[in-house]
Amino acid sequence: MPFRPRYTGLINKYRDRLPIHDDTRLISLGEGNTPLIRLSNIPRELGKDVDIYVKYEGLNPTGSFKDRGMTMAVTKAVEAGSKAVICASTGNTSASAAAYAARAGITAFVLIPEGKIALGKLAQAMIHGAVVLQIRGNFDEGMQLVKEVGENTPVTIVNSINPFRLQGQKTAAFEIVEELERAPDFHCLPVGNAGNITAHWMGYSEYFEHGIVNSRPKMLGYQAAGSAPFMRGAMVDNPDTVATAIRIGHPQSWDKAWKVNKESQGWFDECTDEEILAAQKLLTEKEGVFCEPASATSLAGAMRDIRSGKIPEGSTIVCTLTGHGLKDPDTAISQCTEGVITVDAKLGPVREAIVSNLS
Ligand SMILES: *Cc1c(COP(=O)(O)O)cnc(C)c1O
Repeated sequence: MPFRPRYTGLINKYRDRLPIHDDTRLISLGEGNTPLIRLSNIPRELGKDVDIYVKYEGLNPTGSFKDRGMTMAVTKAVEAGSKAVICASTGNTSASAAAYAARAGITAFVLIPEGKIALGKLAQAMIHGAVVLQIRGNFDEGMQLVKEVGENTPVTIVNSINPFRLQGQKTAAFEIVEELERAPDFHCLPVGNAGNITAHWMGYSEYFEHGIVNSRPKMLGYQAAGSAPFMRGAMVDNPDTVATAIRIGHPQSWDKAWKVNKESQGWFDECTDEEILAAQKLLTEKEGVFCEPASATSLAGAMRDIRSGKIPEGSTIVCTLTGHGLKDPDTAISQCTEGVITVDAKLGPVREAIVSNLS
């Protein structure tokens, strides 16, 4: 019978390319192997001859790409005998850490900025049984505290400063290359701490150096305008944006991301909150793909650069959609002024509402 072996997560699939031993106990929830969806309606609307793919990382087990890094970070923490992990988070890292710690049977401590984390993410951290510390401060302050606590407390830090996180996350580039049977010309990502753009470049470079592909993409990193240290060329102290996942003013992978920028001959740019939300809505309405606001920053930036010709026609472009739209239902609903019609439970008004909305 032509059955294929059950998919059991990215560490098992890429174990030859990851720092893992044969007998390491893998902490996995079947992460990775996410769809690479070719857009059809948006390129037509742009009126440009471009091939745009979105890598839908929102379909990871906890709804964001963070799971790729977390499976490695928690696997290695457990291997080293750690009984607890800790992170600062704008939401998705805490959701992921909470889930993988639960799977491993260890404790997760998560520091989140009070009032600035999307509802779905908070629900995840709580329901998985993490110890949630809501701090009266922003992500950057939380990150600083985690580093200080980590120095003299027996907990493993699972933010992207943990090198195993980037190792796991590089596998997204492997998957893209395998599906396209080549490297894209451009790879667009939202940038917060800049771990993910760094990890993708590691993945592409590894396949390039091993002769699996003969080119690497230009890496394009897009930030939210109110939270764009790479555009300012300096840290930003009071970052703000509706895209809470990238509300980060002091990126932890600052030097690494500049290196990616130079080596790949890519660029950074910024998108306004309006552009970000418009791209999120366009993707849901025209392509049926629901991502969270931060994720749509990659598409918002790509669309602008395609329109201007900075990304030339004939290009193959991949945009990473870092997290699922269900993470932030409040922002989604607040963007929709129409769509819900209240009627009496009677045939007449129901039929009337349908007929008047048929186009
Ligand atoms: C973490 C996150 C980002 C930012 O990734 P970095 O590696 O910090 O640059 C972007 N979007 C979402 C949804 C995230 O959860």
